[in-house]
Amino acid sequence: MAKPGTSACPLRVAIIGAGPAGFYAAEHLFKQDRIIVEIDMFDRLPTPFGLVRNGVAPDHQRIKAVTRIFDRTATNPRFRFFGQVGLGRDITRAQLRDHYHQIIYTTGAPSDRNLGIPGENLKGSYSATDFVAWYNGHPDFRDYEFDLSQKRAAVVGLGNVAVDVIRILSRTPEELAQTDIADYALEQLRQSRVREVYMLGRRGPAQAAFTNPEIKELGRLDDVHVTIPPEEATPDSLSQQALEREDDRVGLKRIEILKEIASRQRAGQSRTIHFRFLVSPVEILGSSGRVRAMRLVKNELYATDMGTLRPRATDRLEELKVGLVFRSIGYKGLPLSDIPFNPKWGVILNEKGRVVEPESRKPVVGEYTAGWIKRGPNGVIGTNKPDALETVSCMLEDLEAGLTLKPSHQGSSDTETLIRRNRPDYFSYADWQRIDEIEREKGLHSGRPRVKFATVEEMAAALGR
Ligand code: NAP
Repeated sequence: MAKPGTSACPLRVAIIGAGPAGFYAAEHLFKQDRIIVEIDMFDRLPTPFGLVRNGVAPDHQRIKAVTRIFDRTATNPRFRFFGQVGLGRDITRAQLRDHYHQIIYTTGAPSDRNLGIPGENLKGSYSATDFVAWYNGHPDFRDYEFDLSQKRAAVVGLGNVAVDVIRILSRTPEELAQTDIADYALEQLRQSRVREVYMLGRRGPAQAAFTNPEIKELGRLDDVHVTIPPEEATPDSLSQQALEREDDRVGLKRIEILKEIASRQRAGQSRTIHFRFLVSPVEILGSSGRVRAMRLVKNELYATDMGTLRPRATDRLEELKVGLVFRSIGYKGLPLSDIPFNPKWGVILNEKGRVVEPESRKPVVGEYTAGWIKRGPNGVIGTNKPDALETVSCMLEDLEAGLTLKPSHQGSSDTETLIRRNRPDYFSYADWQRIDEIEREKGLHSGRPRVKFATVEEMAAALGR
């Protein structure tokens, strides 16, 4: 049998998940000029780009411009996209193993972490990541409901997702109307009565996970005043020592930005963002089944043996009156059919991107992973580029060593036949390009980057199906 990677026998690769990690992996593979690669990319949604379409905030269009690079990858004649084809739903792992030499799982982290406190399931207590998917027009979240009739909301967590949610809750309808936020979300946010949003961090400003440009942006929003209790804007002595010892310039800059914001006087703004540091929710309090307040405990920091500063509860409790709570404490990966998985970390078991057996830690020949489902939900979009490169390097090493799958179906038409049988209504890249074009055209009429289709049915109808 010819060696995979030649024109007689192209290396056939399946990429499961059309987000940034999948596209960066495809880009790295196509850059190899000594091997001929054919890539089929699958996504359970009809549209590509994962969190770039369904996670990046609608008012951050510059970040979304990365899709131009992905589009370039997709123009390669050896690239195909099969949208609306889900692993385990429309195609099995065994079928993939029988059609490809190598498989890369890049399915991201579609779930989120719970606080695990009483009251978390009350009406008005939500997952920030669900809210993000909802306002971004993710078809699975079209029917979710968020009660925005409350005046005061709290967002738990100090990451960039928390900042995104706070910005979207705090922007004026006029600002939101210039973005590609889902139409139904724009309507709901127009009616929103939320005027005060609390950002609650269990540690201090020195440990915050948000990045400095994001926090500066919060301080520049139209019609929003930001408050930070002065004693909480100032790092405690352990944090200050750590910042100086580690010469943490980014951390020191963050404190400077926060202090500057804290020093500002209200200038007639009708909305407020309150930063609160060193507090943890211990209970969400309800009345008649819905959120009315949160019980918070004040934390102090202590140094672990490793030197990390962790939060520890004091005996000081307070009640914060809020009618809405969003937990924003991190995404979580979900297992994929029978692929080895670490449920605690929410990642596929892997070493440098090679999927490994749970007991022996031996590589599973031909199966790889990249992105959040490989390393956990951290980093920005660009972080996926070196991450995917690490995986692709392993794939190339294994190819060189003859360690690939030996699929019985090697023709690209065989896969197409399989998909047409399993999922005749799949979406190709050309279908996506048409959807993209229509969404952008609709946006032109209303001064927006695009007007998104909110359901798969609408997308299919737009394609004349
Ligand atoms: P993240 O950056 O990991 O932040 C999670 C936050 O939740 C941290 O402040 C963490 O505090 C806190 N937390 C965790 N468990 C908690 C608990 N039990 N109680 C209270 N707080 C808790 O996660 P993320 O915000 O979901 O973002 C995911 C990734 O996407 C990040 O790398 C982020 O930078 C990136 N992202 C980037 C952008 C952008 O570039 N604009 C936008 C959105 C997301 P501790 O530090 O104390 O653990």
